[in-house]
Amino acid sequence: MNPYLPIPAKIVDCQQFPFEKKLFRIKASIDFIPGQFVEVSLPGIGEFPVSICSAPSEKDYFEICIKRVGRVTSYLFKFDRGDFIGYRGPYGNGFPMEEMKGKDVVVVAGGLGILPLRSFIKECIYKESCKSLKILYGVKEPDDMLFRNELEEWKEYAEIIEVFEKGGERQGYVSDFIKDANLNGNEMALVCGPPAMFEPVVKKLLKEGIKEEKIFLSVERRMKCGMGKCGHCIMGGKYYTCIDGPVFKYTDFKHAIL
Ligand SMILES: Cc1cc2nc3c(=O)[nH]c(=O)nc-3n(C[C@H](O)[C@H](O)[C@H](O)COP(=O)(O)OP(=O)(O)OC[C@H]3O[C@@H](n4cnc5c(N)ncnc54)[C@H](O)[C@@H]3O)c2cc1C
Repeated sequence: MNPYLPIPAKIVDCQQFPFEKKLFRIKASIDFIPGQFVEVSLPGIGEFPVSICSAPSEKDYFEICIKRVGRVTSYLFKFDRGDFIGYRGPYGNGFPMEEMKGKDVVVVAGGLGILPLRSFIKECIYKESCKSLKILYGVKEPDDMLFRNELEEWKEYAEIIEVFEKGGERQGYVSDFIKDANLNGNEMALVCGPPAMFEPVVKKLLKEGIKEEKIFLSVERRMKCGMGKCGHCIMGGKYYTCIDGPVFKYTDFKHAIL
C-alpha cells in the first residue's frame, strides 16, 4: 500500500476555543504513543503535521486541536461534525512511556505545547502509571488556557501550576515558576512549547537538580513526508525530526543545535 495515501475519517465532534483554536474528534482507531503526530490531509489543499492530543486509552477516536495560522489550517477551520478529513500516521517516536512508569514526572507546557502533553497526562491518569505528576502550564492570558474543565479534573491526581504572561496569581513565563513546583531532583521532565522557552526551562530544571538525560523536549520543525524521506525537518545535520523525534532527550538535542 502507498504510505502517502491518506485514510479518510469522519469528524464526530468539534469544539471551538478562543483565539482561533478548534478541537476535532476523529473517528478512527489508531495505536499510538503520546507525543506522536499525524499528517492531516485535505485533498486539493495540502497537508500539515499535528500532535495527537487524546490518550491512547481512548480507543474509538483520536483528537487534534489546531490553531488557525495559514492556508491549510484555515481551510480545516471551516470543517465541522460530519465532515471527513484524511490522515496519515501516527508518526514520530513519542514520549518514553516505559521509562516513566512508577517515576516522579514533571511536565512543562507553553501555549500549544500542552497538546502532545495532554495525551501523556490523560494516559498517565487513566493508567495511574506515574508515582507523582506535576504540571506547569503557561499561556499568554487566562482565555488562552485550553481544556479548563479538564485541568480541574486533573488536579485530583496532579499538582498544577498555572502561569500567565498577563493576569492571574503567577505572572510571567512558565520558566519563572519552576521553583514553585518544589521538585526533588529525581523527576523525569517533559517539555513542550515555543523554541524560545527551551533554554530558560532547561536551565531551571537543571538548577533544581534534574539530570540532563532525564529531560525530554518535544520539538517542532517544518515537516512534509513524516517518514524521514524528504529531509525538510533535518536538525543538526543528522536528525530527522519526524522519525528521530519529535521527542528528543536534552543530551541529544543540545548537540543537534550547538
Ligand atoms: C510535530 C508537529 C506537531 C504539531 N502539532 C500541532 C498541533 O497540535 N496544533 C497546531 O495547531 N499546530 C501544530 N503544529 C504546527 C502546524 O503543523 C502548523 O501550524 C501548520 O503546518 C500550518 O499550516 P498552514 O498551511 O495553515 O500554514 P502555512 O500557510 O504553511 O504557514 C503560516 C504560518 O504558520 C506558521 N507555521 C507554519 N508551520 C509551522 C510549524 N511547523 N511550526 C510553527 N509555526 C508554523 C509560520 O509562522 C507560517 O508563516 C505541529 C507541527 C509539528 C511539526
